[in-house]
Amino acid sequence: MIPRLKGTDDILPPDSAKWRILLRAFDDLSAKYGYDLALMPVLESTELFARGVGAGTEVVEKQMYTFVDRGGRSVTLRPEFTAGIVRAYLESGGNGVMKVAASGPQFRYEQPQKGRRRQFYQVDLEYLGEQGARADVEIIEMSYELLVTVGVPGITVHLNSIGDAADRLAYRELLRDFLRSVAAELSADARKRIEDNPLRVLDSKIDADIVASAPVPLDHLGSETAAHFAAVRAGLDEAGIPYEVAPRLVRGLDYYNRTVFELFSTAFEAAQSSLGGGGRYDPLGELIGAKHPVPAVGVALGCDRIVAAMLAPAGPRLDLFVAVAAEARIVEAARWVRRLREAGHRVDWTGSAPSLKAQFKTADRSGARGVAVVGDEWDGGEVRVKDMTTGEETTVRIEEVGEWLHR
Ligand code: AMP
Repeated sequence: MIPRLKGTDDILPPDSAKWRILLRAFDDLSAKYGYDLALMPVLESTELFARGVGAGTEVVEKQMYTFVDRGGRSVTLRPEFTAGIVRAYLESGGNGVMKVAASGPQFRYEQPQKGRRRQFYQVDLEYLGEQGARADVEIIEMSYELLVTVGVPGITVHLNSIGDAADRLAYRELLRDFLRSVAAELSADARKRIEDNPLRVLDSKIDADIVASAPVPLDHLGSETAAHFAAVRAGLDEAGIPYEVAPRLVRGLDYYNRTVFELFSTAFEAAQSSLGGGGRYDPLGELIGAKHPVPAVGVALGCDRIVAAMLAPAGPRLDLFVAVAAEARIVEAARWVRRLREAGHRVDWTGSAPSLKAQFKTADRSGARGVAVVGDEWDGGEVRVKDMTTGEETTVRIEEVGEWLHR
């Protein structure tokens, strides 16, 4: 036996049923809001993340799966979608609005635990080419709607603005001064960040008590960024999305400006396990080589955590299992199964005619809501059906089985 690697998962039935619900809901949602599908490379050049995500970030410093390929290039298994999508936008012309939805695995060399995997899955939405606050609102609204649709309980949105680079210039010095004044009490990690990435200290859990009195970006926004934040809030209020302003929320990646947000659920006690997060990342395009600013906002939601937070069971996986009473009826049963599937019902069968007892056993394991037996009644235009939830048996007309299923 060769076991799977630490921090990776085989997502198989029955657990995968909830994944299917999530991925379908995501697909429907993105189509509904006008987001097209983006299928992105899993491998990118290392430099994309070093420049895009930021060389001083935890992801780039400690977590990337980076190796030299056979051609001598340094390549990295993507740890996130956004940098790759912006690269693709720029490579394809980099003009106008592009709204895309992507989903798939990400790779980060983490200390594996529940909800923290080395290979994990994200669904991701990116709205490029729009600077107005309505794009931020749309992305947050969709994130919230997705979680509600798949049955995640007790969702809260944490919202903040970290301003633009210009706002942060003066603010960062203020924050540094504060952090230096309390340096002796800070964790070693936080102390290290005072010089290279002081904003990150704000959301350090172990330093929370000390940074509670630190100056926050919200109090140091310029007039434009303050107006943008007010417009995002007004848009969320108007859409009926509940949120809390979280003045110490910053995100782990370097490319954000203005709006940042994360989504949480009461399904998890640990407040740090966000289901998703995102924000505006206007600086990213230029960080990776764009000649002009690319206003953009996006979100990535963690599928592993969403699925773990989905309360309701996935429900029956099949509408009907078709059992065949005799070999001689296999051909007509096969035709009927095909017709039922064409009509959109979820149907399975064994494709042969072992004993009915054996077929009922298979039907039971299949998780079908009902079983129909193609037997002698077929010649009179009927099938015997059994409701697998109640155990009730009856005979119905073949053409009425669809109604019986959705009764
Ligand atoms: P991030 O890009 O770090 O903001 O991550 C966005 C979302 O992806 C998080 O809110 C999590 O739901 C999920 N996520 C990030 N890292 C992991 C991981 N190592 N394992 C499982 N889910 C993760």
